[in-house]
Amino acid sequence: VESALGLDIGGTKLAAGVVAPDGEVRSFAATATHREQGPAAGIARLFDLARKVCAEAGVAPADLVSTGIGCGGPLDRDAGMLREPLHLPGWRDVPVTALAERELGPPATLDNDGTAAALGEHRFGAGRGVDNLVYLTVSTGIGGGLVLRGQPYRGASGNAGELGHVTVERGGRRCRGCGRRGCLEAYASGTSIAERAVEAGVLCGQPTAADVVAAVRAGDPGATALWDSTVDAMVCGVASIVNAFDPELVVIGGGVSRAGELLFDPLRAGLRAELPDVRARVVPALGGDRVGVVGAAAIAFEER
Ligand SMILES: [Zn+2]
Repeated sequence: VESALGLDIGGTKLAAGVVAPDGEVRSFAATATHREQGPAAGIARLFDLARKVCAEAGVAPADLVSTGIGCGGPLDRDAGMLREPLHLPGWRDVPVTALAERELGPPATLDNDGTAAALGEHRFGAGRGVDNLVYLTVSTGIGGGLVLRGQPYRGASGNAGELGHVTVERGGRRCRGCGRRGCLEAYASGTSIAERAVEAGVLCGQPTAADVVAAVRAGDPGATALWDSTVDAMVCGVASIVNAFDPELVVIGGGVSRAGELLFDPLRAGLRAELPDVRARVVPALGGDRVGVVGAAAIAFEER
């Protein structure tokens, strides 16, 4: 049976993979986006990556059933056009599906990367067999996606599921992603965790969220207090999201989810305390680093 090509356009990383209809990743590769070099150079690198993974999987691009492309918003799904996504300054009105079809051959579909990842987890990952699923990716920023009644939910303009911009503190920290104040992303994204650690004097230099997690594991009291407040923001945000959608499952992926039980145990406990009657389970994504590519391929299979 024919495979699909999944392409993921991130702010720091481009990824591509050939994915079988059962979700198996037949080949995978990633490279730096270098977004500052502009869309023409970035898109050319993306298609080079696509040809490379096709060669690794032993298929010609033209033999693939279709191409799915995941990217952060805002974007125009119907037009297949990037509308200067927040994470790609200057990438304005890029007709990425038309370019992909011209360069690679198969019909191409563009979708929000959070929606794509949610669908990937629903079809092939932690959410198999579930009707209603919320996906959150906690990495540089916080993205999200919704699968409701077994189908991706996109909203009126195709940009639903921006779950990182749920307010957890009115008038709070400025959000780098959207410019408003007090978003979940402004507290619990990897970038925000690292910034808050520096502001609190817990770590110095240019730490990452992984450095904060390591300090928590080492028993550092300042890092532990900072992590507790981070988890508290997650509890607040996820509780609001669960109240809004009543999903069976909340799937959490992204780099910060690698904190594992350090994140999931207190998050589950906090949700049980705040929403005692809610049965939504909170689980890690199964897609790992490949969730974007698998999700983009899931979109491609939907569109075939
Ligand atoms: Zn925001």
